[in-house]
Amino acid sequence: MKVKTITAVYPGSFDPPTNGHIDLVVRASKLFCGLIVAVTDNQNKMPSFPLEKRIEVLKRATRNIRGVKVERFSGLLVRYLRKKGAKVIIRGLRAVSDFEYEFQLALMNRKLYKDIETVFLMPDEKYVYLSSSLVREVARLGGAIDCLVPRDVKKLLRG
Ligand code: ADP
Repeated sequence: MKVKTITAVYPGSFDPPTNGHIDLVVRASKLFCGLIVAVTDNQNKMPSFPLEKRIEVLKRATRNIRGVKVERFSGLLVRYLRKKGAKVIIRGLRAVSDFEYEFQLALMNRKLYKDIETVFLMPDEKYVYLSSSLVREVARLGGAIDCLVPRDVKKLLRG
């Protein structure tokens, strides 16, 4: 089942990428003919990992998934979508707590560019509780993160 001819953009900080993010990339790549994972270089978010590292590990973790590209982006997301000729934004919903922020974001993006749609995907239930910030915290405290992140992220977190 593919929405042929449509390119989707999956934007985020991916700080660091987790298996929840990758789960979503796999799902989205089955729906759209092209998927750009767009990593923000927004410094206001005070990322824990450099942009280049986040891009590098995402590229490695998605290299076998057809139709997927990983790129950096800065500035307004809708401007980036226009530049890429993309009409769909992919975002993830884990729990009700995500809803309010994602709802605001989706409606704002629609206000800025009426032709786009935000498509929400849910991860496999084993990743529902997973977030980049939680992974960073568990790693910092020396907990096992083996089944939570791609292999390269494990190395990154261990410094
Ligand atoms: P943000 O873009 O807000 O900085 P992230 O980079 O962490 O957040 O995530 C990008 C998108 O992926 C968001 O829509 C977020 O809800 C979603 N996401 C993050 N972790 C997961 C997960 N474990 N399962 C599904 N979606 C997720």
